Amino acid sequence: MPDDQAIIGLPGFKILSVQKPNPLIFEVYCEIKPRCPHCQSEQYRIKDTFLRKLRHESFGARVSRLEVKVHKYHCLGCKRYFNERLPGVMPHARATESFKKEVCLKHQQGISQRTLQKELFIGNATVERWYHKFVDLKSRELMGRSCPQVLGIDEHFFTKKQGYATTFVDLKSHRVFDVVLGRSEASLRGFLTKLKGRDQVRVVVMDLSETYRSIIRKYFPNAMIVADRFHVIRLINHHFLKAWSQFDEVGRKNRGLLSLMRRHEWNLKEDQRVRLKEYLTKEYPVMGAIYDFKQDLCKFMLLKSITQKGVEKYAHPFISRLNELKDHPVEALRTLGETLRSWLSEVVRMWRFTKTNSITEGLHTRMEEISRRAYGFRNFKNYRLRVIVMCS
Ligand SMILES: [Zn+2]
Repeated sequence: MPDDQAIIGLPGFKILSVQKPNPLIFEVYCEIKPRCPHCQSEQYRIKDTFLRKLRHESFGARVSRLEVKVHKYHCLGCKRYFNERLPGVMPHARATESFKKEVCLKHQQGISQRTLQKELFIGNATVERWYHKFVDLKSRELMGRSCPQVLGIDEHFFTKKQGYATTFVDLKSHRVFDVVLGRSEASLRGFLTKLKGRDQVRVVVMDLSETYRSIIRKYFPNAMIVADRFHVIRLINHHFLKAWSQFDEVGRKNRGLLSLMRRHEWNLKEDQRVRLKEYLTKEYPVMGAIYDFKQDLCKFMLLKSITQKGVEKYAHPFISRLNELKDHPVEALRTLGETLRSWLSEVVRMWRFTKTNSITEGLHTRMEEISRRAYGFRNFKNYRLRVIVMCS
């Protein structure tokens, strides 16, 4: 005799009969003796009997249904009426909780409402309603966490109407901590003042954004700000290409050359190196010097996890290189020098760590995917719940 509980997956049910075609119909009854929900009395009489048909979890590719005879009782203690409750089923529900969970997990894994509608025979509004509840419950479990020690901050685009959102990422566990609409101090203030454990944050990694820097200084008093390596290198490249277009606008638009110029010197193959060298020495010798300078800067940017002593060793030559940019004839490079000087301590701190916001960028890709799968979100609250549930 098979164990009925193992088959049904809910406690207290006994199988009376099984009808085999799709859907599988289990005729069951519940062994658990009910109590009056008002006075806990076990003295009652049966007032009425009716059949409850409940959608239940799938068995392989077949869907299933439970059919239970339940009673309406008249309590002899308090004289009130009550309906029998079933384990794992909400009052008035037409599906068991385990079936709802199955639907939600399938939807979370990327199966669309439409497919679920076809395969499990439930309406898409039902899927949406269940999934919304599921997400809400899960996110509530995750609320009230305190701030991670290593935090990454970055912005990403939300919608045309509502603009940008700010992502807070736990860089130790590679998970999204929270997303907040807006990227200015005014829009983040409400979130930040309520945040638990702000003074526990030791390190914040971010791009070179002045607004974020002032926010971090104000709300995370014990945190060290570290520049994000990826963004710094991108900034250097950006100004370098700007300087290049000042000298040779035609060459700047040549895609082959552009690709060579952008790469790190040591990533080039032999023939590529020869070609670039030819261009830099013969055609534009001025650019040659600027190119070497950029390579030098990038080498500094790639230093990581070095000791305090090492930082002292490298800091000096780095600062003197930056000072060379002070009265450089090319404007783009002067601006670059200014920016890097104003972020000097954040950039130098980068050498001590290995953490970058590449994790954050990766999570942004996933968030985009979530958004695309829902055909975009209009309501930021819904978007945030899903992101927290799926990326936390
Ligand atoms: Zn009662």
